[in-house]
Amino acid sequence: MRFRELVVAVFFPAVVGAGTPLLYAFDMNTPANQENKPGWMEAAVAKLERELVAQGGEDVRTRVQRGLGQVASFWRAGDGTQAEFEEFVRRNFAADQKIRDTMFERFDRLFEQLDGHLQEIGREFRTQADLDIGPILPFDEMFAGYNAGAHVTDDFFGNKIAFVVLLNFPLTTLEQRLREGEQWTRRQWAEARLAQRFAKRVPASVNLAIAGAAAEADRYIAEYNIWMHHLINKNGNRLFPPKLRLLSHWNLRDQIKAEYSEPEHGLEKQRMIQTVMERIVLQTIPASVVNNPYVDWNPFTNEVTASTVRDAGEPPSAMAAPSSAPEPDTRYSVLLKTFLASRQLDPYSPTAPTLIARRFEEDREIPEARVRSMLEEVVASPVTAKVAALIQQRLNRPLEPFDIWYNGFRPRAKFTEAQLDDIVAKKYPTAHAYAEDMPNLLVQLGFDRERAAALAKNIVVEPARGSGHAMGAAMRSSKTRLRTRVEKEGMNYKGFNIAVHEMGHNVEQTISLNEVDYTSLQGVPNTAFTEALAFVFQAEDLRLLGLATPDEKAEPMRTLDDFWGTYEIAGVALVDMSIWHWMYDHPAATAAELRGATVDIARGIWNRYYAPVFKLRDVVLLGIYSHMIHSFLYLPDYPLGQMIARQITERIRKGGIIGPEFERMAKLGRIAPDLWMKQATGSRVGPEALLDGVERALRP
Ligand SMILES: [Zn+2]
Repeated sequence: MRFRELVVAVFFPAVVGAGTPLLYAFDMNTPANQENKPGWMEAAVAKLERELVAQGGEDVRTRVQRGLGQVASFWRAGDGTQAEFEEFVRRNFAADQKIRDTMFERFDRLFEQLDGHLQEIGREFRTQADLDIGPILPFDEMFAGYNAGAHVTDDFFGNKIAFVVLLNFPLTTLEQRLREGEQWTRRQWAEARLAQRFAKRVPASVNLAIAGAAAEADRYIAEYNIWMHHLINKNGNRLFPPKLRLLSHWNLRDQIKAEYSEPEHGLEKQRMIQTVMERIVLQTIPASVVNNPYVDWNPFTNEVTASTVRDAGEPPSAMAAPSSAPEPDTRYSVLLKTFLASRQLDPYSPTAPTLIARRFEEDREIPEARVRSMLEEVVASPVTAKVAALIQQRLNRPLEPFDIWYNGFRPRAKFTEAQLDDIVAKKYPTAHAYAEDMPNLLVQLGFDRERAAALAKNIVVEPARGSGHAMGAAMRSSKTRLRTRVEKEGMNYKGFNIAVHEMGHNVEQTISLNEVDYTSLQGVPNTAFTEALAFVFQAEDLRLLGLATPDEKAEPMRTLDDFWGTYEIAGVALVDMSIWHWMYDHPAATAAELRGATVDIARGIWNRYYAPVFKLRDVVLLGIYSHMIHSFLYLPDYPLGQMIARQITERIRKGGIIGPEFERMAKLGRIAPDLWMKQATGSRVGPEALLDGVERALRP
């Protein structure tokens, strides 16, 4: 994982979307803009256009029209009178190209300073929370929760710096960036990113409503535990150990995966967990069993009784009587609230007027229709049946629905975890030892010695409180941080594996900030790209320990594992997408109606793409992901990330040496994802690399 967006993300509140005429990137007459638009605006804009063109010549007309249109669409009565508006435009429109160049360079530099210092404040304020350097006091958490950049966009509309940007630099639609972006110069891309900072002006009350709904959804999900020792089968037996508490859906799913290596009761336990999941989706789960270790539950009959087993202390005195009464559609009412809150932002987002459009056109910058067709290409691919047949053969039984989480394609380990721990602990007794060795590690990854030393010098290694993360800088004078966990006995293998992954982020962060031509373009198109680059490093971990010998079985197994995971999550993503469309089509729906729709959608996608492979119909498991409830249409990022990772890894591996290819890619900056991928690998984002890999892996 990485912490790069800590502050910066807040300051890139929005990106403009698609589907609108070129000259004005958006329609100025949306209800929200209409309401606040001063009556004098139209006349003032016409007058200023005549005036500025008379001064600057026909050449500037297009720029004048665009700038005036952009400023006018955001100017509210409270921003100033007609005279103040006119005065502002006359003073700040850069008719002369030289002045416009100077303006761009200064903004590029100053915003780097702003982002960079905000990032530094955020990093310092989180130090006690993030690093393993002693106890956290209550006020430390208050500092950690503070976001110095939260009001910057408001401030910049207030002091009118935002309007200077909007008057002189183009807001662009996704459609434009995709259609024309390939012909743009790097400077045009940088201007587009600069303007995007101010593509939205969302009232604080709307942001607050969304944050409120998100917090409620987070709380609902965070407390949704199933106490496994209290699940009983038809014989009254408890299959799971005491105290085991699994959070839905992550821990439940991972438990299904873990049970593949349990010959005794694995299959029975997997079936039981599947039933629990189905009841959560269908909301036939008894409300009294959620996060409650004082009742026993038979998930098959749905019978609930008071528990005689105490594995979580004594029950509270005022506990309700055990009951099979179902959870009252709370899952769907929480989801509905995130939708209703998101919809409040729609009128302030004229170019991406739904959350669906904002997710695809602004965040991912790949149109929804393309994402959908990429996902369908995976789930409808003929290789799914071949891989399924292989799994069936390995399991020696017909597939069951939960086998969408089959995880048996793992290369056999040559060393035990304990052996590896030993080797790593000797090599890296302290975090300092790892830091000292970084230049060598980078040389082994193919960077030349001088380059490796320079990169390592920009990475500060620190002891993490959690498992580890990378925190990038946002200005060139700051360093990136590699936070890693080192136990008293020295670093263990898991810690090393994570450190190498994070080091991949740190190297990407260093190159994509310090070496990029315009800091407005710093970074990579989105998280999937930096994760892919980090995985390239991580996959080399054994080689970096001097332990890897070529294993021709390992790679095909890894490919099959990646593919089966993508097949599963692509279906889940399609469900997520359909649910959001359904909510937009039925804005007045009740929670019960949303439950019905979700169940229909999950079954429909299963029946279309999974039933032919599993030979079973009407399964609802694709609806279990917690992200669907609390992550605002985030799930398509996972399968996209898999495709992107595969494309990048294959290209880098093809060259044999990681360093120079990694460096070339990391320098491309935050241009559109397809354009980045074309320049990096020769083709746009797509599932072909993954599907071809599976075909190869299946060959005998
Ligand atoms: Zn990561």
